[in-house]
Amino acid sequence: MSEFTAARAHDAVLRHVEESLRSGALKLGDRLPGERALAEQFAISRASVRNAIRALEVMGVVRSATGSGPNSGTIVVSNPSSALGGALRMHVASHQLPLKDIVEARTMTETWALEHAATAPWTPEQIDDARRLLEAMDDDGLPSQIFTLLDAQFHVALSALAGNVVVSTMMESMREAIRDYISDAAVRQGAWEEVVHVLRAHHHGIFDAVEARDGVLAARLVREHIEWFYGKAI
Ligand SMILES: [Zn+2]
Repeated sequence: MSEFTAARAHDAVLRHVEESLRSGALKLGDRLPGERALAEQFAISRASVRNAIRALEVMGVVRSATGSGPNSGTIVVSNPSSALGGALRMHVASHQLPLKDIVEARTMTETWALEHAATAPWTPEQIDDARRLLEAMDDDGLPSQIFTLLDAQFHVALSALAGNVVVSTMMESMREAIRDYISDAAVRQGAWEEVVHVLRAHHHGIFDAVEARDGVLAARLVREHIEWFYGKAI
């Protein structure tokens, strides 16, 4: 089989999965037919089917597990932020997406989200995720790596209140793309004790503004928070 035909064989499976998802014939949690069945259906090699499944896995659309248990096989999942984050991270590593541009884009999306969270119809329980993370970060004994992990989740949880899934997904993937740079920077910061003290105060201010539905204040505080940290970190 020529390379060209192999690429087309693989595309046929991708197109079929996309159409089935769009029509609802395939839904989250559904299992794709086995490798052999797909190879027969599309009259392609099993190697081509494996390539197509692998591509879907990288896109965060399916998860494959070997074995024969209830979780085995190729299952339809939805993991857009880790897939987008992984792709972004590679392009940051190759220096094609400058870190400072990712940070700027993150500031844009996050200020937008907190501004819109002020008027979005979330219930008091929905802000509890962010509150729990805020309280967890108040623990003095937290290692910097764990703190930065909770920090990322805190920002995603607050931004999610705006109710725009695309914005939340973009934010999560941008954060994922620069995760290693942030943890490295946090470790490099000699005076982590002082840094963490400021970060905590910022987080409480941001949380209070969002809880009080003051979108203008929340957006300003989160912008200052991001610029302050990245000004030190990169
Ligand atoms: Zn933060």
